[in-house]
Amino acid sequence: MPPDSQNLVWIDAHAHLQDPRLAPHLPQVFARAAAAGVARIHVDATCEADWPAVAALADAQPSATLVSFGVHPWFIRDRSARWLQNLRDVLAARPAGIGEIGLDARMGDSLDADREAVFRAQLELSHELALPASLHCRDAWEPMLKILLAAPPHPAGLLIHAYSGPPDALPALAEKNVHVSFGGTLTRPKNVRARENAARVPAGRFLLESDAPDLPPTLPAGAEKHLVGEDGKLLSEPAYVPWVGQIVAEVRGTTPGAIAAETTATARRLFAKLWA
Ligand SMILES: [Zn+2]
Repeated sequence: MPPDSQNLVWIDAHAHLQDPRLAPHLPQVFARAAAAGVARIHVDATCEADWPAVAALADAQPSATLVSFGVHPWFIRDRSARWLQNLRDVLAARPAGIGEIGLDARMGDSLDADREAVFRAQLELSHELALPASLHCRDAWEPMLKILLAAPPHPAGLLIHAYSGPPDALPALAEKNVHVSFGGTLTRPKNVRARENAARVPAGRFLLESDAPDLPPTLPAGAEKHLVGEDGKLLSEPAYVPWVGQIVAEVRGTTPGAIAAETTATARRLFAKLWA
């Protein structure tokens, strides 16, 4: 972890620890997260097929995880005819949020209308149940912002993970109780847009994430690297969150300690129902 991050408490707002690439390494992943001060990891499901694995993680690691269930825009093809009722059922069974849901215009599969309907149904459910929802958005900022800004302020709060949208939209999103999180992409030195977003997002409206095992950070020379995938590339994991926090502190002109305290307080508020 960064040298000035000793004894800080962090929360990983978005991860997929149910991913098969991490399965053989989970004890070490949790141990490294704890050693880095990452006290809680919010695990987002992606499709009905991985909901049992996410529930099992919550049962196995109740003090280290928070969980959400949903259908990710990449996997709408795999949903069952009963998917929305199944989602209601899994949400009724334990404290949980809704996620990962969203829009992705880069799929090129002519299912965009279907994708938007699946997203809207889950977003409406999050309003109805007053549960926080975690959102994915890639190349679909126009429809996404139109939907979010036309709705009333969210009763529990929304989180757009790995936010890459326009900086100018951040104040209007904050008024709708929408938060954003930053992860590995922020650590890439050439990512000027992410730095601008991290600098401009209103206080109390941002979180930090690993998106494990995807979107790995660019670590400084000498930082310890852990898992690599079959392609030889670094896999992301929650223990890297303090490195993201350090960049956020830099661009906001404050200390890692202040960012750790602020993001942990924001996560406790946004995910309050997941803690129950
Ligand atoms: Zn994700």
